[in-house]
Amino acid sequence: MNTSDIPSSPGVNINVPHSARIYDYWLGGKDNFAVDRAVGEAIIQAIPGMKYMAGENRKFVHRAARDLVAKEGIRQFLDIGTGIPTRPNLHEIAQQIAPSTRVVYVDNDPIVLVHARALMISDPAGRSEYIAADIRKPRSILDDPALRETLDLTQPVGLTLIAILMLLADTDDPWTKVAELRDALPSGSCLAITHPTADFNPAEVDAAVAAATGAGMTLVARNREAVERFFGDWELLEPGLVPVSAWRPDSKVENPEAAYYWAGAARKP
Ligand code: SAH
Repeated sequence: MNTSDIPSSPGVNINVPHSARIYDYWLGGKDNFAVDRAVGEAIIQAIPGMKYMAGENRKFVHRAARDLVAKEGIRQFLDIGTGIPTRPNLHEIAQQIAPSTRVVYVDNDPIVLVHARALMISDPAGRSEYIAADIRKPRSILDDPALRETLDLTQPVGLTLIAILMLLADTDDPWTKVAELRDALPSGSCLAITHPTADFNPAEVDAAVAAATGAGMTLVARNREAVERFFGDWELLEPGLVPVSAWRPDSKVENPEAAYYWAGAARKP
């Protein structure tokens, strides 16, 4: 994207790296700037498989959305940390199976807001909405009129926190924030999470975290136990908390630990 394309986009700062744009770069998108590509490349220096990893994470979004609709009966989603639209988006996957599915997307990055319209092209039988908000303020999300108009919080919700929680420092207490979200949802709701980890390759991941941190970003890799705690007392669905490529893969995966994310989905009893 040329800088001139977005002269009037408030808050879009092309001088500091943004996670949404770095991820877009890894996925082969065009909504990123030199500063994002520089950090994206520095992380690739540390983790040569980073683009592969981003792709594996994105494929999990597809498989998890599909199975939460098809196998768990979820018909409404709250997706926080949506990212720059990448087709198919979550609501497109869900609405292919159940056209009436309703999705609320949430992100706090102004570049995602610029693209929000693309996220709101819904099957007419369902609905998709976008809220600009911060996961560190769960109440602001749960009380947003757009959420209340779109989701029925007396019915099960699929909460998807895919590759977002690593952007929260421990001092933000992400476990309490996620618990607040879980507590607002009824029995039968599901929670899907992916989270980068140093568990499979500490040297590469530590170097990547150092590169991101050196560029002024918050990026926290977490171990299995720390990621599992995000699910609280919800029951992990098969196959449990596993390397992202090993979560219900569509085809045989030679080395599931080649993508350094934990992934899981759980259901509220
Ligand atoms: N979930 C998508 C995109 C992941 S990129 C996927 O996995 O394919 C992480 C996204 O989280 C970015 O778009 C970033 O802007 C967003 N994000 C980071 N911190 C956030 C916060 N505090 N509140 C809401 N969104 C946040």
